[in-house]
Amino acid sequence: MKKTSNLDRTKIQKMEMTSQILYKQLKKYFGFNAFKGLQEPVIKNVLAGKDTFVLMPTGGGKSLCYQLPALMLPGTAIVVSPLIALMKNQVDAIRGFVDNNDGVAHFLNSSLNKQQLMEVHEHLMKGVTKLLYVAPESMTKEDNISLLKRLKISFYAVDEAHCISEWGHDFRPEYRRIRPIISEIGNAPLIALTATATPKVQHDIQKTLGMLDTAVFKSSFNRENLYYEIRPKVNTEKEIIKYIKNNGGKTGIIYCLSRKKVEELAELLQVNGIKALPYHAGMDVASRSNNQDRFLMEDVDVIVATIAFGMGIDKPDVRFVIHYDIPKSLEGYYQETGRAGRDGGEGQCITFYSYKDIQRLEKFTQSKSPSEQEISKQLLTETAAYAESSVCRRRLLLNYFGEEYDIQNCQACDNCLHPKKEFDGQEYLTQVLETVLAVKEQFQVDHVANVITGLFNSTIKSYNHHELEVFGEGADKNLHFWNAILRQALVQHFLEKEIENYGLLKLTQKGRDFLKAPYPVMMTEDHDYSDNEDSDDVVMHGKANGDEELMAMLKDLRRDMSKRLNLQPWIIFQDPSLEDMTIQYPITLDELKNCQGVGEGKAQKFGKEFVKLIKQYVEEKDIERPQDFIVKSIVNKSGAKVFIIQSIDRKMPLEDIAEAKGLKMDELLTEIEVIVNSGTKLNLTYYISAIMDEEKITNIYDYFKDEAEDESLKMAMDELGADYTEEEVRLVRIKFMSEIAN
Ligand code: ADP
Ligand code: MG
Ligand code: ZN
Repeated sequence: MKKTSNLDRTKIQKMEMTSQILYKQLKKYFGFNAFKGLQEPVIKNVLAGKDTFVLMPTGGGKSLCYQLPALMLPGTAIVVSPLIALMKNQVDAIRGFVDNNDGVAHFLNSSLNKQQLMEVHEHLMKGVTKLLYVAPESMTKEDNISLLKRLKISFYAVDEAHCISEWGHDFRPEYRRIRPIISEIGNAPLIALTATATPKVQHDIQKTLGMLDTAVFKSSFNRENLYYEIRPKVNTEKEIIKYIKNNGGKTGIIYCLSRKKVEELAELLQVNGIKALPYHAGMDVASRSNNQDRFLMEDVDVIVATIAFGMGIDKPDVRFVIHYDIPKSLEGYYQETGRAGRDGGEGQCITFYSYKDIQRLEKFTQSKSPSEQEISKQLLTETAAYAESSVCRRRLLLNYFGEEYDIQNCQACDNCLHPKKEFDGQEYLTQVLETVLAVKEQFQVDHVANVITGLFNSTIKSYNHHELEVFGEGADKNLHFWNAILRQALVQHFLEKEIENYGLLKLTQKGRDFLKAPYPVMMTEDHDYSDNEDSDDVVMHGKANGDEELMAMLKDLRRDMSKRLNLQPWIIFQDPSLEDMTIQYPITLDELKNCQGVGEGKAQKFGKEFVKLIKQYVEEKDIERPQDFIVKSIVNKSGAKVFIIQSIDRKMPLEDIAEAKGLKMDELLTEIEVIVNSGTKLNLTYYISAIMDEEKITNIYDYFKDEAEDESLKMAMDELGADYTEEEVRLVRIKFMSEIAN
């Protein structure tokens, strides 16, 4: 009973799989009225018993390409999939489609207990199971092999097939063993599917799976609704805050490489009034999934994450993806930016780039084996070239994935919207191509550029390339320039990279023709990010000396208001806030909120007269204000703040918050005071009312409102007397500051 029955297969072929029948099945099982993209030809190919290779972008509908044939063909389809966590979802989804038949799909992995395993066996043997999902490591287990050998297998599907290649972004060594295991279990047609495949990865997959002659179905990887932009990594945090504020309320993801940066940035965004949460693999499972849920439920607008976030997440309306750090590969970049605009709507992809980051990433690879290092380095080089290029980003990206994009101006990338001046590169192109020939088409981009510029190094020396006639012929231009010409020669197909020997430059036929009869070719220079200060310094507060004259006026106004409102002056604005105003000269309430200790509430309640006064002053004195957008800094960098704010929002008892963060109660109160003093409102009433008498609360509250000369705790304790603990006074003071002052 093993192996595919050819009889059944031919029967189906004989039925002449007309589209009509397929549509009926599509409707019956999945309820869809039409196929997406290349699904139909793919499915026909699978049903015809042929090997099939599918390349479709994320969200393209790959699963259906094997699910539908599996349901239609006799026997069981074996689906190899790398993510145990997602397997259950996939199986549940299929079961959902096929009524009353839980046996129709199963998974086989290490998470099953004995009884569950027995049920799987039983269903398999009965022949009711149409899809069996296996992790590659389960597939190679002896027990499972002998089980699989007894099955009638309709076909094998290898999902996320790029895991086979070291050149992909998610290499899994076990994937390499799939082909030998299949041969052992019993051959049947094979369908491999992936969303990321450069020509190199594609070749690796086909070679490793023994399907070099297979029909390849490739949809376009162009995501028309995505806008791509690279920005120099200068004042990055400020730029990000500015961007998010200008795009009020839109949902987005910000990727950072380190966990520390994730926490810092999330906190900075919060302090600046943006609803943001962190997400990274170092967080405990509960808060991680809580933050993820709050993002999905649109409770927060922005998630700041390491790349641990996003796999398997299908939020359709992510409007921007920001890379705080450049990704390690263009595959990664494409995947991560791809999470924007899945619904076909707007999706802005903005990356902050500094060459220093590339060097930093290169350093990280030093712990790897030499061959892995080489791979990582090449991937990084491609990424840097993409970032620095002034060619259409879309064209570069698609070219990287082996796809032609001929439209002159995509209208949706920074390079197309703000093109660099073009020049005729005929002469330079000639030089480049001649140099590639001179080194016998045996070298990579870097080396060729070194030869042209005449850079003498050990490799050049060992090949005697300094003796070549072309050596140093382009010394009047720098490496940066020649790299740009080489890249454009590649993108325009005068040169190509050999796939098997990664990166060796060869002339294409077009290149050879060009050398015989050169013609004008328009080119551009790369962007130059080299003199960027790699400083993310947020504008700090209270450093510079403020305007003393204005300070005096502001204090007068404060005194005046305090009388009118019958409030202590310090409740209106504390001195550091006034000082900051004399430096920033805010003239709108929005700007005022950027001053130290001024939150939304304070600005609304007390701010109007202050900005009016400052505006007058600025106009009269013709003062040049710091024009730029001002960002609030985090007073005291502590990753706990975000957590504290969230927990209080959720009315968690302070004891629990303190315990969760390993703080003593008085340390927690200090943290909370810092938060409140920097202008964030916190509502502690739920907690205070639970632990204190109403009368005590009122007494302390009234003391601060009517008597206190400043917020001093000591004075309050003296005044209130021994009935009150320090903790109680502090708690009510926080409540007071939040309600009255903020
Ligand atoms: P991929 O694996 O390529 O990223 P999926 O297989 O997860 O994509 O499918 C992406 C989404 O498209 C899913 O929500 C799926 O239900 C939907 N989908 C697939 N095929 C069709 C179709 N023919 N019509 C409508 N929706 C489809
Ligand atoms: Mg998929
Ligand atoms: Zn473009």
